[in-house]
Amino acid sequence: AKDFPLALTPNDPGWNDLVGIAPGPRVNATFVTLARNSDVWDIARSIRQVEDRFNRRYNYDWVFLNDKPFDSTFKKVTTSLVSGKTYYGEIAPEHWSFPEWIDQDKAKKVREDMAERKIIYGDSVSYRHMCRFESGFFFRQPLMLNYEYYWRVEPSIELYCDIHYDPFRLMVENGKKYSFVLSLYEYPATIATLWESTKKFMKNHPEHIAEDNSMKFLSDDGGETYNNCHFWSNFEIGSLEWLRSKQYIDFFESLDKDGGFFYERWGDAPVHSIAAGLMLNKSEIQFFNDIAYWHVPFTHCPTGEKTRIDLRCHCDPKENFDWRGYSCTSRFFDMNGMDKPEGWENQKD
Ligand code: GDP
Ligand code: MN
Repeated sequence: AKDFPLALTPNDPGWNDLVGIAPGPRVNATFVTLARNSDVWDIARSIRQVEDRFNRRYNYDWVFLNDKPFDSTFKKVTTSLVSGKTYYGEIAPEHWSFPEWIDQDKAKKVREDMAERKIIYGDSVSYRHMCRFESGFFFRQPLMLNYEYYWRVEPSIELYCDIHYDPFRLMVENGKKYSFVLSLYEYPATIATLWESTKKFMKNHPEHIAEDNSMKFLSDDGGETYNNCHFWSNFEIGSLEWLRSKQYIDFFESLDKDGGFFYERWGDAPVHSIAAGLMLNKSEIQFFNDIAYWHVPFTHCPTGEKTRIDLRCHCDPKENFDWRGYSCTSRFFDMNGMDKPEGWENQKD
């Protein structure tokens, strides 16, 4: 028994026995989380899931961003959970404030009006800064400039299945620039003029529109109107170099000048989705059936029992949102001529 101590200490071999165990190269990539200090225990849960299901074998870094300085508890807890290196960045005020061309009175009236109409986050200033930051600035924070790919993780998410390959490598080796697990319709009241702004951009910058784009995913009438379909951006694995490209920055700046982040309540999900849909080729957008995910209130539980058993999933397939009426994922499959996974008909409603 003396060769087998009752308990290991952090200095014993074996304490970190899974760290770095996955063979093969790594991508120049990082996890990224925007959070407040008060999110610490909710992000701790998310990190635990990501580590258990994937990162303890891969040890990618994790960048945390905040409009205020992170406190020592936040840093201590998250660093203890992440198997890669952790970095903490404070967002510059110009990336988290009203640009000078925004009419404050007009923006305030909108918030009051949206509050009365009970539009979710309609009265919030900070939510608008968050959406604008995620749309236009997270990928050009100094800490993010060190990386080529990112995986966005929010507080209080779940991962229900093992991930036995490196999604970053899948992205790189298959030429993918953007990815999703859930898609749905946006609340029209939050984006009343987003498509008008998009059309103006398309007219001014026809050179940025991809030939083999996903307009069919975004519009049912060849681009006249937006059908509100978007990829849910609280989960994203994507290319930072694409977001830092002239195309994407031109698009963001054009939208930002139009003011809809403040005069309406444009979300980063429709902004990223419209950008990906119009400026990437269809083949550059990836749907991950095998990454099982929950963010309140929707679940992506892989279709196909074999997948769920092989990957030791713990989600209820009845909860899967993919093939329900309010999901846009069916459209994505149809547009790409993809076969739906076996068993999808049983999950329609
Ligand atoms: P929802 O998913 O649209 O309901 O919005 P969340 O409340 O989850 O916010 C989206 C992301 O932004 C999460 O990662 C939050 O932690 C983060 N976030 C939201 N508001 C703020 C804020 O005021 N400051 C900071 N630092 N992070 C925020
Ligand atoms: Mn969230």
